[in-house]
Amino acid sequence: MRVEGVTVRFSGLLALDDVGFTVEPGSIHALIGPNGAGKSTCFNVLSGVCRPQHGSVRFGDAELTRLRPHRIAALGVARTFQNIVMTAGTVADNLMLGRHALTRAGFTATALRLPRAVREQRVHLERAREIAELVGLGLLFHTPVDLLSYGDRKRVEMARALCLEPRLLLLDEPVAGMNGTERARTAETVRAVRDELGLSVLLVEHDMGLVMRLADTVTVLDFGRRIAGGTPDEVRQDPAVLRAYLGT
Ligand code: ADP
Ligand code: MG
Repeated sequence: MRVEGVTVRFSGLLALDDVGFTVEPGSIHALIGPNGAGKSTCFNVLSGVCRPQHGSVRFGDAELTRLRPHRIAALGVARTFQNIVMTAGTVADNLMLGRHALTRAGFTATALRLPRAVREQRVHLERAREIAELVGLGLLFHTPVDLLSYGDRKRVEMARALCLEPRLLLLDEPVAGMNGTERARTAETVRAVRDELGLSVLLVEHDMGLVMRLADTVTVLDFGRRIAGGTPDEVRQDPAVLRAYLGT
């Protein structure tokens, strides 16, 4: 994914000011920065929820900038939200909703349980189970989501996005609200997902320790501007980053 010159203005406020960065295939890229830096706005631009006044977002050969969210998802870019949005039912139910966009048989054929639709549903269910296992939800596949811990609900979110078979996964604060053990486990999951599925990951995260351990490359935003970028080691030593985070 190549982001160039993206500018978003909300009435008087420049939420993003000429922001650019690249996510290489198969890499984990982190977008970091203090509160209000523009991270979520950037995510919203990449997933088609927010239209920038200037700039472009390219994914492979496709120009995403003016596409609607479902078109962007269909091109292989799936996202999670900072606040969990979940349907009632089991983990399996939630993941099957994620598969819905990939279903070929129409709603009527599925409702009537025509053989073709039943076969297709079975294939989707098997794939949903594989994805659940990959993110560590294998044993909870038939558990109602209301009974899950917060950490496991965040896994359901990630798994549901993965059910779209994306080539790029966007994660908005995947470990927010988690304790140390859950954080470490989620970091392992993100790495496993990247390694097993060979996709790229772009994550927004506050937890600097996690970002430094997990990301291959980092972009730092502050007040809507890109103030630094590079490997975790390069970014860690960058004076502009220290100023932004320590407020000196
Ligand atoms: P971050 O995710 O890095 O904390 P955001 O992207 O949420 O930052 O916000 C960047 C800036 O844009 C903030 O000053 C925020 O108040 C403002 N902002 C975000 N969304 C809107 C909106 N829909 N309308 C007006 N201002 C917004
Ligand atoms: Mg945010």
